[in-house]
Amino acid sequence: MEPNLGKIVNMRISRTIENLGKNGIKGVYVPTGKEALALLETLLVPGETIGVGGSVTLDQIGALELIRNPKYRFIDRYEKGLDAEALHIRRQQCVMTDTFVTGTNTITEEGALYNIDGTGNRLCALVFGPKRVIVIAGYNKIVPTMENAMLRIKNVCAPANAIRLGMDTYCAKHGHCISRDLNGRNMMFPPAGSCTSRLCQNAVITGRQPEGRMIVVIVGEELGY
Ligand code: SF4
Repeated sequence: MEPNLGKIVNMRISRTIENLGKNGIKGVYVPTGKEALALLETLLVPGETIGVGGSVTLDQIGALELIRNPKYRFIDRYEKGLDAEALHIRRQQCVMTDTFVTGTNTITEEGALYNIDGTGNRLCALVFGPKRVIVIAGYNKIVPTMENAMLRIKNVCAPANAIRLGMDTYCAKHGHCISRDLNGRNMMFPPAGSCTSRLCQNAVITGRQPEGRMIVVIVGEELGY
């Protein structure tokens, strides 16, 4: 990273970690995805059940290969051959695991996470269920405020994920949420009846956590979207 830009990014990361801490969420910085993976291995407990949320970031750093090690009891929602019913059961089981590992759509410098989901299983686990939640995110997920978080979700996360998942949404075709074209704003949920095949069906703000439940690993690389 260009050194001057790096200084700004470091300030933003420090501010974010400090404010996460005030919300009972432990923030940790590592420079690279490789180091994030090494840290993840130290955090996982052999023998415990582990679930994951759908995440490009986890794929990019190799987290799934790590968690598939037989020393962990991985609830593998990606196992080949799962039909819709079996996948649903795996997603349910992920909500009841000892440890849940996930990415995030956004982290605010104010010390909160803002996430949207279609199915909602990832949001369920963020809110309640797993004893521990480990969030891994590139620094590109940091935004100043909740309003910036919503704009990022509607202009980056949702369109890119809709394309990745082959969904027929307005944002997949136009690169931004339909809300913007309907009324000039970027609302989290567009008017009823618009975007019926939508990705943004549920939204969760993680504003505070019980001490020790959640750790957010911020990586000094751009990861996911
Ligand atoms: S509401 Fe629909 S168009 Fe808007 S970001 Fe979500 S999926 Fe895309």
